[in-house]
Amino acid sequence: MFWRKKWLDELPDGEESPFLECRHLLFEEEADYPICPSCGKLIKKNLPQNSVDRSHLYLIHQKVQRIWSVQLGKGYSWFLIFILALFLPDFLSNIILKNGNYGFTTFVVPSHRTPGMFAFAMTGYILPCLFFLGQERTKRFTTFSLGFERFHKILYSWPVRLVTFVAVICFINVIMPKIYGVEGDVFIGKHSQLTPAQHVKGVELFIFVNMLCNWIVAGLLVVHQLIDRRRTWWLKEANEAYLAGGC
Ligand SMILES: [Zn+2]
Repeated sequence: MFWRKKWLDELPDGEESPFLECRHLLFEEEADYPICPSCGKLIKKNLPQNSVDRSHLYLIHQKVQRIWSVQLGKGYSWFLIFILALFLPDFLSNIILKNGNYGFTTFVVPSHRTPGMFAFAMTGYILPCLFFLGQERTKRFTTFSLGFERFHKILYSWPVRLVTFVAVICFINVIMPKIYGVEGDVFIGKHSQLTPAQHVKGVELFIFVNMLCNWIVAGLLVVHQLIDRRRTWWLKEANEAYLAGGC
């Protein structure tokens, strides 16, 4: 992507890949920040020269690193959510079907041509992922570097946020059960031994498992977003405190 180009140009020789490491990109109003608001590390070129300021900064830096949202934001990555999202559908199906007598033990008749439960749950993950995945700052940098500042400001204004949030909730709640209902009907129908009542119950369970996965993943993404915001806010606060000479 071409907005990465600028990052690469700013890299000193011999530094690591720009795709995994934070490049400490700062917005205009953050130009003097000695602590990176994205990753929380110290920014070499903004470190103070004299030792009094330096120790003051290290003190603030240590203090802000101890805040729970700053600590949690480091470990609670979208990668963890992805792994969970991948295994949750089959895991939940197993638990539910093994602990009840529904006339079948797997939703999908095992064969090399049928996908695992993840393939179904995934459809519902797409929309919440689009809206709640990723750091706010990264999104801002992306749209700003592409010159979509105005678009970004509209997209991230409170009214638009609220409408999108409600739309995503409605999509998960109203549209997804219908899609899963149709899919469930087809796949439960392949268990030829089921009575009509067992078939209906099977479809219900199929919808339930997928919806549960959708809600868990959407919830985790929202929590991830909230932690990310809180963390960024604290890191910015620390910088402001340092620049104002406070603690
Ligand atoms: Zn950084």
